[in-house]
Amino acid sequence: EAAEAANVAKSTFLANMSHEIRTPMNGIAGMVHLIRRFGLPPDQARRIDRIEKASSHLLGTINAILDLSKIEADKFFLEDRDFHLGSLVGNAMSIAGDRIQEKGLALTIDVPTTLPLLRGDPTRLQQAVLNYVDNAVKFTEAGRIALRFSCSEQNADGVLLRCEVEDTGTGIAPENVARLFSAFEQADNSLTRRYGGTGLGLAITRRLAQMMGGDAGIACTSPAGSTFWFTVRLRK
Ligand code: ADP
Repeated sequence: EAAEAANVAKSTFLANMSHEIRTPMNGIAGMVHLIRRFGLPPDQARRIDRIEKASSHLLGTINAILDLSKIEADKFFLEDRDFHLGSLVGNAMSIAGDRIQEKGLALTIDVPTTLPLLRGDPTRLQQAVLNYVDNAVKFTEAGRIALRFSCSEQNADGVLLRCEVEDTGTGIAPENVARLFSAFEQADNSLTRRYGGTGLGLAITRRLAQMMGGDAGIACTSPAGSTFWFTVRLRK
């Protein structure tokens, strides 16, 4: 009990600290954006680019720590509002599309056309989708990424939505698969040094899916690529 209490205290501290760091980080990003808007000589514009990239990377990391520590401290709450899966996917792809194009990867998207208006937390659902898609892009040097949605169960009130992201990337060694969804775990230190990252994305995706009445895992992985899945329960 003492150990569990200490762990919750640590998560609360991390949540507070991340929040304290995020506020000034947002201030920095906002000011950089304003400076760029008023026009700059090319060499300064390049430096501002670097500041923008660094601050958005830092903000992503802080947000991941904040999310996970809030979930662990039981201070994480889901929203409940109506959304169309099609627009959510369109939005996610407008965020990830540039990176997919930059790497020259092919993308296929499969969304059931018969889905009704859904009710749940679209922001967190999109975050889970983007976590998988971002990893697929990061660990795939050539080939394609497939994003698929399907309804694995459906009744009068709601659906169990399944999302799968398949890539033709590095794959994951079988001995590493089991621990990847735990916080801070990464498959391979040498790969991680090359690709960066915190090891929080998959843990957050699984926790989000579980909070939404589903789960997350790896459907298959081989040196030819991997398929990650998660499910969430959504109301109609
Ligand atoms: P991060 O990507 O920040 O390290 P994640 O929790 O998202 O953290 O991923 C944990 C680890 O799982 C990654 O470091 C990588 O080793 C492995 N991984 C995740 N997605 C893929 C993928 N699509 N292909 C190969 N390895 C992956």
